[in-house]
Amino acid sequence: MALLIPNVPWNEHDPSSALVAIYLETSLTSVRSAQLVRKSLDARQRRPRWVAVFRVEVEDEDIILARGIAGVRTWTARDEGRYGLDADGPVRRALPSDLRPIVIGAGPAGLFSALYLAEAGAKVTLIDRGSAVEGRTQAVNRHWRGRAPLDPENNLVFGEGGAGTFSDGKIYTRRRDGELGYIFTRLVEFGAPREVIQDAWAHLGTDRIRALLVPFRQRLADLGVEIRYDTRVVDLRVEAQRCVGVVLEDGSELAGSPVLVATGHSARDSAEMLVRAGARASARGIAVGARVEHPQELVDRARYRGAERGALPPASYRLAHNPEGRPAVRTFCMCPGGMVVPANNDVERVVVNGMSFAARRAFWANSAVIVEVPPEAYGADDPLAGFRWQDAIEARAFEMAGRDGAAPAQRVVDFLAKRVSEDLPRASYPLGVRPGDLHDLFPDLVADGIREGLRAFDDKLAGFAGPDAVLIAPETRTTSPVRFLRDEAGCSTSVMDLFPIGEGAGYAGGIVSSALDGLRAARAIVGLASSR
Ligand SMILES: Cc1cc2nc3c(=O)[nH]c(=O)nc-3n(C[C@H](O)[C@H](O)[C@H](O)COP(=O)(O)OP(=O)(O)OC[C@H]3O[C@@H](n4cnc5c(N)ncnc54)[C@H](O)[C@@H]3O)c2cc1C
Repeated sequence: MALLIPNVPWNEHDPSSALVAIYLETSLTSVRSAQLVRKSLDARQRRPRWVAVFRVEVEDEDIILARGIAGVRTWTARDEGRYGLDADGPVRRALPSDLRPIVIGAGPAGLFSALYLAEAGAKVTLIDRGSAVEGRTQAVNRHWRGRAPLDPENNLVFGEGGAGTFSDGKIYTRRRDGELGYIFTRLVEFGAPREVIQDAWAHLGTDRIRALLVPFRQRLADLGVEIRYDTRVVDLRVEAQRCVGVVLEDGSELAGSPVLVATGHSARDSAEMLVRAGARASARGIAVGARVEHPQELVDRARYRGAERGALPPASYRLAHNPEGRPAVRTFCMCPGGMVVPANNDVERVVVNGMSFAARRAFWANSAVIVEVPPEAYGADDPLAGFRWQDAIEARAFEMAGRDGAAPAQRVVDFLAKRVSEDLPRASYPLGVRPGDLHDLFPDLVADGIREGLRAFDDKLAGFAGPDAVLIAPETRTTSPVRFLRDEAGCSTSVMDLFPIGEGAGYAGGIVSSALDGLRAARAIVGLASSR
């Protein structure tokens, strides 16, 4: 038996067993083992402090439990998953030889589903429209540094690793279930530092994500996965309501099933392809807005209440405002020490997002300030109407900022006063920013919500809406505006052997939740196939 001990004050100098013994007011010798399973910085105190969760084996367990210390309880099997410890090794199964899964998309959902299927012994083909990460990185650099035109197939959203490759690499999720252990153990095997399992707010940074994709790919290849980069799937082959293969851009066909569609929420053509194939879908609410950028030092000062940052990490925040009778507004995907980046795949569009390197050492901090938009706002009951709504905003942004890839921007004080900024502070956006009135970009619902949110957030974080803050827009692609209907196993309710998975399917939002979604479908496929 073991105990779960939350809220233990933590520092890196004292041994875990000593910290736990002091917290439990017991002798050091009675602590048989103390395993740090999660640590997080509590910045709500006057002095920020680290607190940790431990899995502990102690001699006088019953006595300690009887003391009723808040949160202390018996460690359960579910906690193994919750804290990313249940590391399933590969489970090879006797699978039918006609099981030849095709996975479309090498983002987190596609990569993890392909890995699980291949570990189970399936002969998998993994296809991505973009290049392997090395070539993709070169394409992004050419665009940012050399001002080469955007490559529609190799950019921040398409190519090996998917949309998370050039990201902050936050790998925490609100979902807490058993399969997290599978994901985190594999990430560590592929080169992520072990601490990502323990850190409550773990992040990798784009540099470490790009590095771990190479051993990930090698593992897939070693397991016999056929990987096809620079290959776009343009149609799904459906016979008698069963998906039996895919059609590639060059017109050739590839037979195989089941087909897992992990194409993300930027590949609008892929969503259309699913609808064409007969996959039932419904429109879904999204949240859109703008990135707000501040000097990181401003955020540190506000969050650490003027205390020296010293060895503490660059401060972060998560803010929300839920006004009665009006749409909720919140900050999203905060990137401490990061930069605002272009996240579009079409040349004549502007979409922004946030990215950072592992060290999070950039001068700026950014986050999206986003407003909930219900599907009724799209003005249509077509399941793909949300894409057109997003697209119109992205096209207006391209026009507004001069049609060369720069993003429209406005000082927060000017946005609140509804005037175009005369000048803009130095911003991180690699393709440049130009002044524009963001009220002309967004419907009133969104612009009003952003204004209300900025004012509310300024009360919570000093300087949030101050003269140093700038909005860079638009952030339209926070999540998928469509959801493909699925059964328990993750299969489309209208086409057999077709599994829409990950963020584009409308069931996940983020790197880990998309990976979990892919993994769950792969497990279901292996389970069903091995019981045939
Ligand atoms: C700049 C940025 C920063 C982000 N930061 C974070 C973060 O810090 N933490 C976090 O959790 N999430 C973050 N996200 C979101 C996260 O990246 C996504 O939620 C996640 O990648 C979705 O995974 P997915 O596998 O479902 O799809 P995606 O990652 O979008 O992958 C889809 C893949 O499918 C391929 N594809 C699409 N259509 C086709 C086709 N027809 N044929 C062949 N291939 C196709 C694409 O090339 C792509 O590689 C960020 C996103 C961006 C853009």
